[in-house]
Amino acid sequence: MVHRSWQVIDEGYIKFHSQLHQTPPPSEWVVEEVNTWRDRMYALGYIGAYEGGIGYGNISVKSDLLNEFIVTGSGTGTIPLLFPDHFTRVSSYSIDENSVVCEGRIDASSESMTHAAVYACAPDARAVIHIHSRKHWDALLNRIPTTSKSAAYGTPEMAREIKRLFDETDFREIRVMAMAGHEEGILSYGTSLEDAGRRLLEVLEGEYP
Ligand SMILES: [Zn+2]
Repeated sequence: MVHRSWQVIDEGYIKFHSQLHQTPPPSEWVVEEVNTWRDRMYALGYIGAYEGGIGYGNISVKSDLLNEFIVTGSGTGTIPLLFPDHFTRVSSYSIDENSVVCEGRIDASSESMTHAAVYACAPDARAVIHIHSRKHWDALLNRIPTTSKSAAYGTPEMAREIKRLFDETDFREIRVMAMAGHEEGILSYGTSLEDAGRRLLEVLEGEYP
């Protein structure tokens, strides 16, 4: 087992401290389930890569029994079809310490902290989908629960903003939110991946609110 820890630095901001433990990848059925929804999001351009190869969008699924989740790894937006090695298991996290512990062969997306915050606030949450869409972001910003413009991508501020949305808005009912401080960023969660995916598409297609 190899233990590594480092600081993830992006755009001059230290996002989080992550520890990567090398352990077996997630089971194939979990990967298959995620790929079913990821394929749809990828086909719609909601998960993918910008010109220049910067990937965007990610999906996580939480264990029923354990307080851990698997999330598509950092930079996988450029990859059309994911295999087990493209996932990372986040086995523990601390929003206050800005840290996550990951197990897998690939680094967790720096948005893992954002996913962790949703799971921490909503005990019934079993899946989180984060997508990018300029069109829908423009349309939904401040019309659905929206995190503050000052809360950037993958930061503890974003995690705290998610808690605020649960406390002060109807995010728990709508289950879809926009990120004012993360351009094009939209996130949904559900009691299953199917639930998170359907909910997201409903809101994007204008059925709600
Ligand atoms: Zn994003």
